[in-house]
Amino acid sequence: MAEKEHQEKKLRPLKMKKLPLKEIKPRGWLRAQLRLQAEGLTGHIEEIWEDLGPRNRWLGGDIEGWERGPYYADGLVPLAYLLEDEELMEKAEKWVEAFLGSQREDGWIGPVSGEGDYQDYDPWPNFVVLKALREYFRATEDERALETMEGFCRYLKENLDERPLFRWGKFRWADLALSIYWLYERREEEWLLQLAERVREQGYDWEKHFAEFPYKAPQPADEMKMETHVVNNAMGIKAPGMGYRLSEDEGDLKALYQGLTQLDKFHGQVTGLFTGDEHFGGRDPSRGTELCAVVEYLFSLEELLEVTADSELADRLERIAFNALPATFKPDMWAHQYDQQANQVICDVSEKIWSNAPDANIFGLEPNYGCCTANMHQGWPKFAASLWMKTGDEGEGEGLAAVSYSPCRIDTSLGGREVGLEVDTDYPFSEEIELSLHLEEPISFPLHLRIPRWSQKPEIVSPRGELFRPAAGDFYELEEKWRDGDRIRLALPAPLEAERRFRGAVALKRGPLVYALPLKEEWKLIGGEPPHGDWEVHPKEAWNYGLKLDPDRPSRFVSVNRGKLEEEKRPFSPGTAPISLKVKGGAIPDWILEDNRAGPIPSSPVVPSAVAEEKDLCLIPYGCTNLRVTEFPLIDLD
Ligand SMILES: [Zn+2]
Repeated sequence: MAEKEHQEKKLRPLKMKKLPLKEIKPRGWLRAQLRLQAEGLTGHIEEIWEDLGPRNRWLGGDIEGWERGPYYADGLVPLAYLLEDEELMEKAEKWVEAFLGSQREDGWIGPVSGEGDYQDYDPWPNFVVLKALREYFRATEDERALETMEGFCRYLKENLDERPLFRWGKFRWADLALSIYWLYERREEEWLLQLAERVREQGYDWEKHFAEFPYKAPQPADEMKMETHVVNNAMGIKAPGMGYRLSEDEGDLKALYQGLTQLDKFHGQVTGLFTGDEHFGGRDPSRGTELCAVVEYLFSLEELLEVTADSELADRLERIAFNALPATFKPDMWAHQYDQQANQVICDVSEKIWSNAPDANIFGLEPNYGCCTANMHQGWPKFAASLWMKTGDEGEGEGLAAVSYSPCRIDTSLGGREVGLEVDTDYPFSEEIELSLHLEEPISFPLHLRIPRWSQKPEIVSPRGELFRPAAGDFYELEEKWRDGDRIRLALPAPLEAERRFRGAVALKRGPLVYALPLKEEWKLIGGEPPHGDWEVHPKEAWNYGLKLDPDRPSRFVSVNRGKLEEEKRPFSPGTAPISLKVKGGAIPDWILEDNRAGPIPSSPVVPSAVAEEKDLCLIPYGCTNLRVTEFPLIDLD
């Protein structure tokens, strides 16, 4: 009977689908950012970091046969193919061939580097191999990727009952489930859904975790708990969506929204992220968030967008991608942090009250621990590869949905006909977007244009001059018989918002960008050989300012200054920020360094008698900063 029930399992179809990699060409600043990554650590890490060099066990060597090789390949593959960079493609293929070539007769892939009772068995790194093979297939349609994935799934089918998921694999089951679903959509073999069901049963119960969420306070530094681990949670947030695909109950998606709310409420940061320096750290802007959690949260949201088509998940995707992601890299992408802080006033090797090492917030090759050094590569490429998705059933009903308006060109087919779409914009540094269509013949298809929740009086002008005023916070469907050369203009006016934060502090946002006060900085090389290396970053000026503004009417107190986006000059660096805010601040002498970071933020409002001299402050996008203050005490205006 149980068997029969299993056989009736259905997989809930995706509402939107990512495009093949060759159909997406990043342009403008986004292409420049990906080139920076290619010319920085991602393109050179194999020469510098032994863990990913020829000694890696996945490549036949004698060290690191666990997650690092698969992590790297999972980001390198989409980067190489999006940029059509021959040299990177060759590097990516070397890793892929190593995965394909190392499959045993029984389906297991690669070396085994387990621990404890499972010295000879740890399937977790293979979850990442499957993800990387999926990216590779997305780029090449090489059938061997599917065969190897299927072989590994057969191995799990034969072995999971006897050797169930444990430790990382148990908590990260959703990242296995998504590959099994993906394979099922191409193979339609019933046993794959039964396997996915078993994986879900053996996995950690994230739905219960997010529904009950007992972790309302910062977690003790001395406890290694998988449940409160920042990266596990950033990956686990997709689990309700993955469970929902196997369920017929619409209510199963509820835990996703409970999870987003709980993480924001108890550990949230203004960048859309939550803290964890290694474990939940509360809302204090001096606490850290690990880079692996940044890229994994992005990936979770990209996967969840396919499942839900919820435009607000894309709002969050952009908030993390345009702020937290660039900020945690050295602007030339040759070094990264393990932990970033919203109020990050010094990056040095010093004891802090968190469970990470003293070097966790410096910019380096391998600060704290090397997971981020291997895993960070997927952030930008997977974001770029998710800009537009296909909607509707294959054939007549197909359309396109805008997930993010970053500049790009899409060349795909809808209902069997070729469609080119160019996105011309400096977004997120501008609010104007122009879409142009390239068609061989006039055709009808729906364009689902995301209208961010933050936009105020958004407007769409159709090619024939018709004006639409869509509601914010949803996709707006525009359908007509499109002709070659048609242009659609979008205006997404971004009001200035003052968000109340920890202890009444205030953070300024405008559209998808968060603004922060950059500090004059001194970079001190403490290891390595430039261009790669380990750097401490020290402030060369005071940082302890509060803001003088009325948070209900911030635009009366803040002026917006727009410069020109010079994309060839690294949009995300302090010196080239293309937009800034001017606001009046006041120094608060009692707010000082404590525990080697910005001490407890004074409760707002701060009385004027506690404020020393006033000063005009210039805030720039968070993603452009290295040292910064983002959450400010509010100075009482009276
Ligand atoms: Zn990491």
